[in-house]
Amino acid sequence: MRIAVIGTGYVGLVAGAGFADMGNDVVCADIDEQKIATLRRGEIPIYEPGLDKLIGRNVEEGRLTFATDVAAAAGGAEVVILAVGTPPLPDGSADLAHIFRAAETVARGLTGWAAIVTKSTVPVGTGDQIEDIVRRHARYGFAVVSNPEFLKEGDAVNDFLKPDRIIVGSSDPRAIATLQALYAPFTRSSDRMLVMDRRSAELTKYAANSMLATRISFMNDLANLCDAVGADIECVRKGLGSDARIGTKFLYAGVGFGGSCFPKDLRAAINTGKQAGVPLQVLEAVVAVNERQKHRLAEDIRRYFHGDLAGKRIALWGLAFKPGTDDMREAPALVLAEALLADGAEVVATDPVAIPAARKLLDERVRFVESSYACAEGADALAVVTEWREYRRPNFERLASVMRGQVVFDGRNIWEPAEVRKAGLAYHGIGRGTRP
Ligand code: NAD
Repeated sequence: MRIAVIGTGYVGLVAGAGFADMGNDVVCADIDEQKIATLRRGEIPIYEPGLDKLIGRNVEEGRLTFATDVAAAAGGAEVVILAVGTPPLPDGSADLAHIFRAAETVARGLTGWAAIVTKSTVPVGTGDQIEDIVRRHARYGFAVVSNPEFLKEGDAVNDFLKPDRIIVGSSDPRAIATLQALYAPFTRSSDRMLVMDRRSAELTKYAANSMLATRISFMNDLANLCDAVGADIECVRKGLGSDARIGTKFLYAGVGFGGSCFPKDLRAAINTGKQAGVPLQVLEAVVAVNERQKHRLAEDIRRYFHGDLAGKRIALWGLAFKPGTDDMREAPALVLAEALLADGAEVVATDPVAIPAARKLLDERVRFVESSYACAEGADALAVVTEWREYRRPNFERLASVMRGQVVFDGRNIWEPAEVRKAGLAYHGIGRGTRP
């Protein structure tokens, strides 16, 4: 099958490489010429485990190519996948300018019937608007299909190649048959494709992210209660998650959620609710709790030092919004670093992959260090912000010996308080009755 993927970000690149890996001919197009030049040089513009191999293999086989001419890429394609960004506007609604522009360019480039498949996360009804745009500019038949993407950064390749489910929103028989053929190699062991109307498909994506984010904010709310009443959120989490009706995932208290999806998708869903006259009150609370939680570590550090952070050196372990990615969009580490800097602290930070991305946002105000122990050297306090695997079992004695102060703030509850204390360090987690 000939496929054009428009937008080569986290979703477009993974999807393009994934479809190529199933034997399709894929062209990935982006208006960002630098990104395409990087890809053509054989470099990957983002960090995503396994993606370099997947791309390399398929480029070598000649099944995956990169282009800057979006209209030409759409020519001859039976499936055109829209995977451009849908960032938030100041009022929280999704900015659809990129997707509408991409749809128009694609429409002009079509050279025959095509399924135009929206993988970007878009508000309910966007498919209708895309259909209007394409109809105005295309000379051939087409169908606009909603096919939201559920991959998660850090494990995107696996998620894409082995999806829990594939949602197809369309009522066009030819488009449905095309998508069935496209996804057949992914659904061989079980039928994981759910076909529904386009609006329901669009909403399903927001519903999924909203539910996951709700679990996180719920746990953060409970964690703060644990601190107040002397309970341990880690015990509560295990007790809660072992109920089969609830399950163990997304029940971790911490420094709040960030990333390119949850914050923006929740705001967009709230906006959709408002426009429809149906306020989504649960989601409004989820966002409010998260905003509060992102300030939690800074507050704890401030409290510990009795409000005086001037000249204190604070080491941050982890910058990316979650492990496995270099994505810094809406990362809680940014909120923490800015708060500490505003209080006059000296901030030294490390991350296995996100330093270049973080440097762009925090510049020389933060000192970036590659090694985690070097980062902790001479620090008055250390805070874990991202739960990278390599931070899970550090040598606490070594840490205590290189630090100037003797206190750690575990923003992800990855450490055993007793083990930390044995090394002579004071421990402060989230919701563990250890708040300063
Ligand atoms: P991204 O910002 O990493 O990449 C988007 C790309 O689209 C950029 O390279 C940009 O240059 C390109 N682009 C913009 N306008 C274009 C145009 N007119 N023609 C061609 N290319 C254009 O975004 P992303 O993280 O890959 O997300 C893309 C969409 O997928 C968003 O709607 C997002 O909400 C959704 N999504 C993202 C994830 C994720 O984990 N990142 C997961 C599921 C869904």
